[in-house]
Amino acid sequence: MKTKIRWMNFTVILLSVLVLSAMAWIIFTAFGGPGGAAAREDALSWCAQNATMSLSGQPVSSYGLTGVLRDETGKEHSFAEKDGASPSETQSETVRMENYGAALEFGVRPDTFAITVTNAADGAAVFSGTAQEFSQNFRPQNGEYLLHADATYAKTLQTDQGTYEMRAQLSFEAPLTVDIKLDIYLSDETVSQGDVLLLCADGLQDPAAISAELPFEYTPVFEQTPSGCYAYIPFNYMRAEGEYEITVDCMGTQQVLKYTVTEPDYEVQHLTVSASTVSSTVGDNSAVTEYNRKMDELAAVTDSEIYWSEPFLQPVEGTITTEFGIKRFTNNADTPTRHAGIDIATAEGTPVAASNAGRVIFADYLQVSGYTVVIEHGMGLKTFYLHLSELDCAEGDVVSRGDTIGKVGMTGFSTGPHLHFQAQVGSMCISPWYLFDGSSGVYLMQDKMS
Ligand SMILES: [Zn+2]
Repeated sequence: MKTKIRWMNFTVILLSVLVLSAMAWIIFTAFGGPGGAAAREDALSWCAQNATMSLSGQPVSSYGLTGVLRDETGKEHSFAEKDGASPSETQSETVRMENYGAALEFGVRPDTFAITVTNAADGAAVFSGTAQEFSQNFRPQNGEYLLHADATYAKTLQTDQGTYEMRAQLSFEAPLTVDIKLDIYLSDETVSQGDVLLLCADGLQDPAAISAELPFEYTPVFEQTPSGCYAYIPFNYMRAEGEYEITVDCMGTQQVLKYTVTEPDYEVQHLTVSASTVSSTVGDNSAVTEYNRKMDELAAVTDSEIYWSEPFLQPVEGTITTEFGIKRFTNNADTPTRHAGIDIATAEGTPVAASNAGRVIFADYLQVSGYTVVIEHGMGLKTFYLHLSELDCAEGDVVSRGDTIGKVGMTGFSTGPHLHFQAQVGSMCISPWYLFDGSSGVYLMQDKMS
């Protein structure tokens, strides 16, 4: 069930590009070579086949070609309007403007390309720049605009009549209707501890324009896709059951989104451990400090790119010896310690697979966790592999799902060969099982990528 709020009166957001009509002119001149009518036909033919432009995948099936060709005697030959051809499949080049899902497609990529946008009502200029700047900086209010694009070509044409230089300019105008409907909602109204909600702003084109205040210490990181802006809201086992609110601020307007946290059944364990065992493991303060400092540093890493597209794998088969979130009461303590991942026991030396595609952001030795690998999968979603006997990857490697990144071991504070596997979004531990069974909220991003 979605909590959907539609902001009807909101300006600036999703835009649809309508091509109601389009006009293009090519004016070119040719210099040198034999020139004349034959050269003119060659130039015209080149432009008709290659210097074509369409907007938003809607081909400009017809446009005017008018121009002048100067031959070697200096005489000018003008030619009448002529229908242009659609870009050929094999030669087409695309200049994408990601923020509107709009694209200008050319038969051959131009040497220079510029866009200007004016307000249709008063002709006031609202944007001028490159296609890339258009993607990054053009944040219009809803309304009617006129998009003007200029492309230039400098080509050497080899023809039967000889070689000559051609300069062509292609100009294109299209009406642009900006009608952005902003939709801000949570992917679900209920979330289990260990799962992830997706905070969605469908249609929003600027991740800097939105922020969210949570009832716990976590700062959502919004990423932009062609569909809008999205952030993971992760829930670890410390988030108590109950009803909560998130206050979202988007360009000065606030929305309150409600959600309910539920707690799954966790295993409960009562242990009696001798004082000497405690002091030889977690009692080592300098080692724990080193580990915590490194984990905090890694938790802050967030790549915009989402490296994965397939489900997350369990990195190694074996016996689950300690479950995610288990409540472990040691020596009758009042509060339990919790387990941030799952322990998978199996033979030392068993290859450990990358749970999914990503970027290795840590591959080194720490006293607490031994040989350790951390992979960033995009948007702050990470997997951790602890106590390895050896490393088969290095920091900076981009790994594929299933790649061997190390071997099962018992380095660091470990009583037997096992893999401690942990998943996090930012600093929040999430349940590996929701990743493995495909139910995790992180998978909702797949629908938002286009
Ligand atoms: Zn563990």
